[in-house]
Amino acid sequence: MRLFDGNELVIASHNAGKILEIGALLEPFGVKVMSAGDLNLDEPEETEDTFVGNARIKAHAAAVASGRPALSDDSGLSVDALGGAPGVYTADWAETPAGRDFGMAMGTVWDKCEEIDAGFPRAAQFNCTLCLAWPDGHDEVFEGIVHGQLVWPMRGAHGFGFDPMFQPDGETETFGEMDPKRKHDMSHRADAFAKLVAGCFAGR
Ligand code: IMP
Repeated sequence: MRLFDGNELVIASHNAGKILEIGALLEPFGVKVMSAGDLNLDEPEETEDTFVGNARIKAHAAAVASGRPALSDDSGLSVDALGGAPGVYTADWAETPAGRDFGMAMGTVWDKCEEIDAGFPRAAQFNCTLCLAWPDGHDEVFEGIVHGQLVWPMRGAHGFGFDPMFQPDGETETFGEMDPKRKHDMSHRADAFAKLVAGCFAGR
């Protein structure tokens, strides 16, 4: 396991919600954070069919292009009744000619559950894979998960993406309703991040 001993880290993402959450998680480590967007880096195509594969593509592309260590996040929502869909294709379900529409995408997920008369609770998980890559080609990969259920109608305006329709197990609020700090304590991203910190930020 390689330790991160630098002062600057590129967040290999153009997703404002992820950048905000990862920036907040990194704050205690005194690392100067910049995003792929800040550096005008191109977004590589996510051609793999696993979270790990796509996380690696994004982190290595940003590390090579910026000459700095880069941290990527590949994540998504997997619904049991839909055989794990949308999974690695979560962002794609929100694509429209006018940009991403997560209200529409959440409606599609719920409609597909209705079509097959899926039982309740409608179990789902958020997965998050973090990949920290260095310009020399080395990387470290960490995976996180949070289990919960889908709710409808969607509830709450915090967070991003599919947060308003996801209620974690043991909670009464969706990720969209809860205080962002609380989401940061229990999310798939927080789970993966704790493993990243234990592995690469030890002693900082
Ligand atoms: P990708 O990792 O860029 O392929 O995109 C993953 C997609 O999963 C995001 O665009 C979000 O829609 C969704 N997603 C990932 N993490 C979260 C989360 O914490 N809350 C809500 N949606 C999420």
